[in-house]
Amino acid sequence: MKKIILKSDREKSVLRHHPWIFSGAILKIDDDIENGETVEIYSSEKKFLGVGGYSKYSQINVRMWSFEDEKIDNLFFRKKILDAFEYRNLFNKKINSNAFRMINAESDFIPGLIVDVYEKNFVVQFLFAGTEFHKKTIIDEIINIFEPKVVIERNDLEIRTKEGLKQEKNILFGKLETDLIEVEENGIKFFVDVWNGHKTGAYLDQKENRFLVSKFVNKKNVLNCFSYTGGFSLFSQLGNAQKITNIESSKSAIKILEKNFVLNNFSCDNIENIEGDVFQVLRKYRDMGKSFDVIILDPPKFIESKIQIEKGSRGYKDINLLAMKLLNKNGLLFTFSCSGLMTKELFQKIVADAALDAKKNVQFIQQLSQSIDHTTSTNFPEGNYLKGFLCIIK
Ligand code: SAH
Repeated sequence: MKKIILKSDREKSVLRHHPWIFSGAILKIDDDIENGETVEIYSSEKKFLGVGGYSKYSQINVRMWSFEDEKIDNLFFRKKILDAFEYRNLFNKKINSNAFRMINAESDFIPGLIVDVYEKNFVVQFLFAGTEFHKKTIIDEIINIFEPKVVIERNDLEIRTKEGLKQEKNILFGKLETDLIEVEENGIKFFVDVWNGHKTGAYLDQKENRFLVSKFVNKKNVLNCFSYTGGFSLFSQLGNAQKITNIESSKSAIKILEKNFVLNNFSCDNIENIEGDVFQVLRKYRDMGKSFDVIILDPPKFIESKIQIEKGSRGYKDINLLAMKLLNKNGLLFTFSCSGLMTKELFQKIVADAALDAKKNVQFIQQLSQSIDHTTSTNFPEGNYLKGFLCIIK
């Protein structure tokens, strides 16, 4: 097997079983390693540290498969997949949904592999050259273990270009029987567009938070910002909200939101759907003197790289400040950030800054995080990307 030797002062993170090795940590590398090929990793003193996949074009040159001398073959992947499955079986009753994340990449010890399940329909993403290298083996294992109806690769992701991989989406196995797959989460039915929707079709990471919202909205006037296909809105309706306003920039998402209301036999009389930009609409509402009892802010990732932290932070502050101004006394704000590069501490400070500028007394009631199927390995804190707060506005 080809070898990579690390610099003496750059071994620490591998010794702590962090799965990533950056290009700057590499002292010596064998010639002609193929993109994605499995390599052995050694310390500068030639001590064996483990095996990883080599990514030729990425700053993250290696992602570790194992910190032991293991063969990376079908049995290796079978064991890892079954381990992840075992955990999902444990929590299945708790999440109460047939749509969930089966494999969460680094956090389930298979770097770069996402597997989301919608009933018996599987959607996969390969985010790393090493995972792509073993794609056929991994897909065969998934088919043998789970007997899915269909396996779709949603590899139409820009991040793949950094790995030297092409962007594509394909049906790898079986047949996609409908454009919209119906799933159920905590008693609410959803249509999921696995072929054209965001991510693998749905934001599975917000499951528990959507359910939580249903407990706080009885007879309330709710504003759901960045509503996508209406997750938080459907749970607001379940919780007997008096009125729900949705703001979303994607027309196709709003169409599915409306279908989702009908699917659940909910009347559409209570909802108002605004196709627009949250930043602009919130400003307009402020100028009109509108007010709400509950506001949900679940924006897309504003921060993709370190240089965007400052600008992204301004975006988060802006919407939080506007939301606080629009909330009635004792109004509730569910506010989130899914930017991995934003720490919980920074997000907490941004919310605090927004409260100061809005001239409101605000209390944190509860800290929120990602769904329990979105595991975080202790060696990979980056996996814990979603943070949120439930706040009350005085
Ligand atoms: N809360 C949703 C997921 C939200 S994802 C759920 O539980 O399913 C973020 C959504 O914000 C996406 O649907 C995206 O289309 C939308 N979006 C992104 N930028 C926007 C903007 N400036 N104004 C309105 N919507 C926006």
